[in-house]
Amino acid sequence: MPAHVGAASVRLPVALSEGPGPGRCRLPATASLGSCSGRRNGVARAKPRIDTIARSNDGETGVVMNSDAAIIGAGLVGGSLAAALADRGVAVTLVDARAAAPSAASPRAGGDFDRRVFAIRPAGREFLERCGIWQRIDESRAAPITRMVVTGDDGVSRLVFDAYRSGIAELAVIVEDAALQTAVRHALDERILVRRIDGRRCEALRWSEDAVAVGLDDGRQIDVQLVVGADGPSSRVRELAGISISESPYGHSAVVANFDTTADHGGTAWQWFRPDGVLALLPLPGRRVSMVWSTQQAHADELMALDVGELAERVSRASNAVLGELAATGSAAAFPLRLMKAASVTGTRLALVGDAAHNVHPLAGQGLNLGLADARSLACAIAARGPEEIGSNAVLARYRRSRAEEIMAMQLATDGLHRLFQSSAPGVAWLRNTGLRLTERLSPLKRLLVKQATG
Ligand SMILES: Cc1cc2nc3c(=O)[nH]c(=O)nc-3n(C[C@H](O)[C@H](O)[C@H](O)COP(=O)(O)OP(=O)(O)OC[C@H]3O[C@@H](n4cnc5c(N)ncnc54)[C@H](O)[C@@H]3O)c2cc1C
Repeated sequence: MPAHVGAASVRLPVALSEGPGPGRCRLPATASLGSCSGRRNGVARAKPRIDTIARSNDGETGVVMNSDAAIIGAGLVGGSLAAALADRGVAVTLVDARAAAPSAASPRAGGDFDRRVFAIRPAGREFLERCGIWQRIDESRAAPITRMVVTGDDGVSRLVFDAYRSGIAELAVIVEDAALQTAVRHALDERILVRRIDGRRCEALRWSEDAVAVGLDDGRQIDVQLVVGADGPSSRVRELAGISISESPYGHSAVVANFDTTADHGGTAWQWFRPDGVLALLPLPGRRVSMVWSTQQAHADELMALDVGELAERVSRASNAVLGELAATGSAAAFPLRLMKAASVTGTRLALVGDAAHNVHPLAGQGLNLGLADARSLACAIAARGPEEIGSNAVLARYRRSRAEEIMAMQLATDGLHRLFQSSAPGVAWLRNTGLRLTERLSPLKRLLVKQATG
């Protein structure tokens, strides 16, 4: 347990603080957060960091750090939130259980692409641009989706989305996880207001009248006005705050793998609704694609047991060889899928963002996009009231209200589509495939769908 701020406390030299040392720091780029209607601008309010050694009543000592906010989880959502808050003048301590491993997080060399990739929609991209993260992604590792073809389980009903016809540059951009993680890390290195603590877990939270004490597994403590749980689906912060969840496992896993193709994808993302689940082939730079096959567990196990040649053959058959012959560029990985929603995205001086707050089926590629929208909304809510009100009920209520509709709509849409295409009830197959064909013919509805999916 961390030593609580107690009877005796001694100031420590700032050198004890982790994160960028004074020599490496550059002032953060000030940035606004798009349509945030905050009354504060983005000028950094550099606060001195004063760390102390505290002695608890039972005589234990430990380092106590101070920040405006602690973000637990330096994944893509927690990391981008840290950048956005620092740009609003908020001093942040960002804690992650993973040890810093720059080489492991670096994008792979040459044609070897990360198996984890994300489709980032324009709104998510804009947020990452404003945080100075997007600009750091090596463009040769990203591929725009300019067209999307969705095929029903009768094999003929189709819905085609075209960026050009919708008057936008792209429907989404596919980016590797490692490339994004590296870009986030580099963007944070430039922010003097972000202190990073890697390789440590949040193990305790203790509330007092006007602060929260965050206890780490090495006994250190961070006293903050706001704690943010960005610690993924098994969030410890959520658990410590006593926020319950509703969840239902899909009994499906997503199998992911990358393939070289003999035909050009031309920026098209393909998706097939099938009796066993949903198969997607997403464009990567060059003649390469990333496969996400969300399928029943037994089928996922079967796919994972295949050797790379057999898997390529199976995927080629399931995709009607639209991209010619496939050759796997590495092994496959599987991720179990579930629908999950936290009972609330806020608690006392506490907010949840990203997968800590919600999990959705990956068929629409929206989980991370939702998390980035959480980060943006929370940063906007804080900006609107000013950093001194950071953990207040007013800020948290504003954040909660701003996220309720989109999270519910996305969960209903992805879960509804999954159920619709899994149902074997009489007439449902006709209904879903007819629905695809009708939507294809109704231009205004298609435009609306593109607007929803990219906005
Ligand atoms: C197959 C698949 C494909 C997907 N494709 C897409 C897509 O195309 N587009 C999209 O938008 N989304 C997609 N998603 C969803 C996306 O992967 C997630 O929504 C996103 O990665 C969540 O990010 P996060 O930062 O919230 O959580 P995470 O990435 O899980 O990060 C949580 C961090 O918290 C840290 N942590 C955990 N516990 C502690 C603790 N106690 N103390 C300190 N640190 C802790 C972890 O080390 C980790 O770094 C996909 C998901 C799957 C499974």
